[in-house]
Amino acid sequence: MSVFSVNFTMRPRRPTLNDDPSARRIAVYPGTFDPVHYGHVDITRRAAQLFDEVIVAVLDLPRKPLVFSLEERIQLFRQGVQSIPNVSVVGYSGLTVEFARQRGASALVRGLRATSDFEYEYQMTTMNRHLRPGLETIFMMTSLQYAYLSSSLIKEVASLGAPLEGLVQPHVAAALAAKYARRA
Ligand code: ADP
Repeated sequence: MSVFSVNFTMRPRRPTLNDDPSARRIAVYPGTFDPVHYGHVDITRRAAQLFDEVIVAVLDLPRKPLVFSLEERIQLFRQGVQSIPNVSVVGYSGLTVEFARQRGASALVRGLRATSDFEYEYQMTTMNRHLRPGLETIFMMTSLQYAYLSSSLIKEVASLGAPLEGLVQPHVAAALAAKYARRA
């Protein structure tokens, strides 16, 4: 035996939800999307290249104030990704892991912008793993040009009348302008 050989004792691997190679790979991309911006669309497009199907899951009642209704958030996202054939956009309520189970998903997709996102995402992922072992969470780093985008900051500048080119798609910019014009 060579001095370089190592005697591995193989432990049986814990089964995951990805074990059937013939199964369609379905990912759920959950979020509030109030409203969808270029950073979200970029993550969706990239996830759609990795999975057979990506379901964008728009949370009905998040614990934060909303500008757009569930139906509006769904429609805005849908319009923004209609050219990507393996992406669908639906609303959901309740536990994300339960929604993923109902849809036969093997992974959740989340986007990461900065280290400030990490703490919350880490906690959430650990909780989701506890609730549903085997459901993987895939983190995708934001593309650099979208790293500063957040729905809340976009709403803030939109409410002050800032131009929205480069931040959100034109139909979303129009929806934001209409919302804030009505409120003025
Ligand atoms: P949530 O309330 O679940 O954080 P958001 O709508 O703010 O919902 O975000 C949904 C997902 O998109 C999250 O995973 C978030 O980290 C990701 N995301 C938000 N902004 C960006 C961005 N600029 N680039 C990449 N991912 C992003």
